[in-house]
Amino acid sequence: MLRSVILAASRSSQVERLVATAPLTRDVVRRFVAGTGTDDALRATRELVADGLTVTLDNLGEDTVTPDQATATRDEYLALLEALAAAGLTPAAEVSVKLSALGQRFDEQLAYDNVRAICAAADQAGTTVTLDMEDHTTTDATLDTLVKLRKDHPSTGAVLQAYLRRTESDCRELAGVGSRVRLCKGAYAEPESVAYQSAREVDKSYVRCLNVLMSGAGYPMLATHDPRLIAIGEDRARWFDRGPDEFEFQMLYGIRPEEQARLAGEGYTVRTYLPYGEDWYGYLMRRLAERPANLVFFGRALASRK
Ligand SMILES: Cc1cc2nc3c(=O)[nH]c(=O)nc-3n(C[C@H](O)[C@H](O)[C@H](O)COP(=O)(O)OP(=O)(O)OC[C@H]3O[C@@H](n4cnc5c(N)ncnc54)[C@H](O)[C@@H]3O)c2cc1C
Repeated sequence: MLRSVILAASRSSQVERLVATAPLTRDVVRRFVAGTGTDDALRATRELVADGLTVTLDNLGEDTVTPDQATATRDEYLALLEALAAAGLTPAAEVSVKLSALGQRFDEQLAYDNVRAICAAADQAGTTVTLDMEDHTTTDATLDTLVKLRKDHPSTGAVLQAYLRRTESDCRELAGVGSRVRLCKGAYAEPESVAYQSAREVDKSYVRCLNVLMSGAGYPMLATHDPRLIAIGEDRARWFDRGPDEFEFQMLYGIRPEEQARLAGEGYTVRTYLPYGEDWYGYLMRRLAERPANLVFFGRALASRK
């Protein structure tokens, strides 16, 4: 219930104005977001890499509505990739992109051209791109784009969401040699017709999907903060004899940093998903929806700034 209310707020421009202008916001956002500019992104990446982590950078922004916005997002990624390479931060750092930020909702060809340019720049920089997955109305289009991109850029990563009923089958499709697949629970409010609704069902689906990916020939990227699922991931890595370069754990910046350090200390590859940019509102609201405890943190920061 609370989750649906927060997810609804994430789409409200009135709530956005209220939150964005509240005095607290800067500190709260900083917990989950590197900052607003490329320099902030580079600084945070450098720190994470120095701590033995790998990184995937997300230039915040989704659902662009004009070609100019989509092109600006593409250009931001091109500049970021160049800066990462110049700073010697590739291949430890790669990028995650949302096709909706590149124009998918109003011009699929434009989104494809934009993401292709980003993949080419990533090749040039010696790193990879992962296509974030958004709500279920875009799943087919995003997977179609993935297939096309992989012809020239085979290392392009996919994201599959365990809450979708279709995902176990998608995992089988995408478990082939070299296929980089991030498995997450899923962050959007989805109808029962397409998605499991209870946490238990989603967790069970995650384990089934994890088994498919870890027993397959691809490169699984287990994106979760859930201690039970992480333990199952560690168990399957032993069972299927996967070394640190044959799968990875992924977590979000600012969430369970000690666990990220512990796993890296044990020799696993751990990638931190690092968002940066001006357009942090939708991202922050999804993090709040996932974990109402974060609301307490948010409220405390509000009170302390009054
Ligand atoms: C790297 C990465 C990339 C992602 N990419 C996408 C994407 O492309 N598309 C998409 O839809 N979603 C994406 N997500 C979000 C994902 O779908 C989930 O919404 C999000 O990760 C929360 O699910 P969870 O597996 O962490 O478990 P949850 O069900 O949120 O939490 C399970 C347990 O984890 C622990 N935990 C969680 N948060 C905390 C915390 N803050 N502090 C301490 N313990 C905590 C608690 O024990 C909790 O009970 C991504 C997530 C990650 C980590």
